[in-house]
Amino acid sequence: MSENAVTVCTFDLGREGLPAGAEEVLHIGRGLASDLGVPLHWLVLGDLPEGAPAAAGRYGVAALKQIEDPKLSPAQADAAVKAISSYCEENTPRALILHQTLDARIVAPRVAGRLDKAVVMNGISVETQGENLQIKASAYGGDTRVIYEVGPGPVLAFIANAAVPEPGEGDPITPETLTCDLADVDERIEVLEEAKFDGPRLDDAEIIVSGGRGLGDSDNYALIQQLADAMGGLAGASRPLVDEGWVDSSHQVGLTGRITRPNLYLAVGISGASQHMAGCSAAKTLVAVNRDEEAAIFQHARYGLVGDALEILPELIRVAQETKA
Ligand SMILES: Cc1cc2nc3c(=O)[nH]c(=O)nc-3n(C[C@H](O)[C@H](O)[C@H](O)COP(=O)(O)OP(=O)(O)OC[C@H]3O[C@@H](n4cnc5c(N)ncnc54)[C@H](O)[C@@H]3O)c2cc1C
Repeated sequence: MSENAVTVCTFDLGREGLPAGAEEVLHIGRGLASDLGVPLHWLVLGDLPEGAPAAAGRYGVAALKQIEDPKLSPAQADAAVKAISSYCEENTPRALILHQTLDARIVAPRVAGRLDKAVVMNGISVETQGENLQIKASAYGGDTRVIYEVGPGPVLAFIANAAVPEPGEGDPITPETLTCDLADVDERIEVLEEAKFDGPRLDDAEIIVSGGRGLGDSDNYALIQQLADAMGGLAGASRPLVDEGWVDSSHQVGLTGRITRPNLYLAVGISGASQHMAGCSAAKTLVAVNRDEEAAIFQHARYGLVGDALEILPELIRVAQETKA
């Protein structure tokens, strides 16, 4: 039986609201389904987040399907591969779209291998090309873009790093529960220890103040923390600061760090390398402080301050503290 739908698959979303990345793949899926003239389906593995039926309605999802199994809550890699592959073998979607989380990086290529379909990772956008799909993807660590053309039924993993427009209205969709026999799945990957982050996550922050190598010295990172505190936000960093041990990796914004989407992103002493921008280009407003007026970050910034970060930061902290008081 052919489903002939574009299917968005998500897993490990948690019980509460949807992370913004999930909404972006729903947005991409809706666009592709509309271009192909087919319905949009949403496959959820494991727990159904509370907001899912309402979000499904808003994104024009025609069918919301859930596979429940203890091995999928949280989703373990081998179980997820089997559940998704079995679903696709039965329903043959025109394209399967995943949000490229760390877990999806493991799962997507294996699903494609089982289905003998193409897989494209690091996807940014997708268009139709006759029967085929053209996917623009980030390559070489974000330094360049490539375009892949693949036949029907591919597995596409998208990096969610763009602002999602308001999805519109729609009545909540009633989920349909599917079964998949996962009893014979033996997980081959054992997680011995998970990285633990204390406190709120950059991914959810409304305001982020990030520092880069332009701060000059690890002691100066305290100014970033002070400004973030004064503005009620969180402190982020470019990768060199993590590599140098100024801050721990939970602060890193970028391709190999956190993908953020705050209302305000203030980048201080950051050059604007593509790998950093991959983690902050979905910010609603980006403000840059850099002493080099030619710095690439200014091409992305809505507002820019050209000058020495060590002179500008104390002034911003003073104003933010006064405004807060
Ligand atoms: C595979 C791969 C993955 C990567 N992943 C990430 C990632 O996730 N996140 C990330 O951030 N990077 C990542 N990188 C590294 C990335 O390519 C850049 O090297 C890095 O982002 C640069 O950090 P930066 O802007 O702080 O430093 P620099 O590029 O050194 O820029 C420093 C900036 O500060 C300015 N400056 C200097 N002094 C002052 C001053 N006193 N006042 C104001 N401005 C000043 C300079 O003009 C310059 O623009 C990755 C690279 C690779 C290859």
